[in-house]
Amino acid sequence: MQIGCHGSVWTGQFDTAGVQLAIAKTAEAGFDLIEIPLMDPDQADLTAVRRALSSSGLAVTASLGLSEHTDVSSDDPDVVAAGENLLNRCLEALSEIGGTHLVGVIYTAMRKYMTPATALNRKHSIEAISRLADRAAELGIRMGVEVVNRYESNLLNTSRQAVAYVEETGSNNLMVHLDTYHMNIEEPDMFTPVLTAGSRLGYVHIGESHRGYLGSGTVDFDSFFRALATVEYDGPIVFESFSSAIVHPDLSNMLGIWRNLWTDGEDLGRHANSFIRNQLATVSSIQMH
Ligand code: MN
Repeated sequence: MQIGCHGSVWTGQFDTAGVQLAIAKTAEAGFDLIEIPLMDPDQADLTAVRRALSSSGLAVTASLGLSEHTDVSSDDPDVVAAGENLLNRCLEALSEIGGTHLVGVIYTAMRKYMTPATALNRKHSIEAISRLADRAAELGIRMGVEVVNRYESNLLNTSRQAVAYVEETGSNNLMVHLDTYHMNIEEPDMFTPVLTAGSRLGYVHIGESHRGYLGSGTVDFDSFFRALATVEYDGPIVFESFSSAIVHPDLSNMLGIWRNLWTDGEDLGRHANSFIRNQLATVSSIQMH
């Protein structure tokens, strides 16, 4: 099992220097993996990134949220094509740096919709993501659809919806991606949705209810980690946190990051790494009871 950290803990800039900084800091904090936000796959020199990853020893994944101009669930086939093109470029870039997973809000725009998703929106999304999952399989990359709260998509807000979506694609290379921050808003509890996803769970984000220090909010992590052990989850577990101290111009505004919940990313990262590892150690001890 790999414990990872989202790059936004360290920087808001993901050009070559920004990614190199995030890689170094993620390794220093004790993580096994870095998740790089890939809003623009041409932003960094991929050869330099690959070199930095190799010297750090970190595994790498990538995530992004689509915009209204690249929304693969759009009614407009040109917008769907733009989204599919962007995600294909992300897959190529990720393949060049040895990435293992492309995840996030890749099946819809990451924004507040003002109407429910229609059957056509869902059909467009499923068709595009099915083709992308096939392409990803050729590159040795798994894809995950991240279940987010109602203010960030109108398509997948619960684990149950994500399982139905993944089953409809018919792809074995597409997984459910759960995030504790979003689960805490939409799900009945922190245990059942993990069992609902079961073997289809392929990626996990760990975020607190206010996206700050783990353990300082209302997320029931004890139940969540017990559920991961129950389904024998062994995929990536990635810490995600955002503060207005570290501002990414696209991401931060979309997510509504209006205030500082931390200023020292190094302290936050070390704390999260040990929090997650402690939770896993605690849960694994239950096997001896
Ligand atoms: Mn997330």
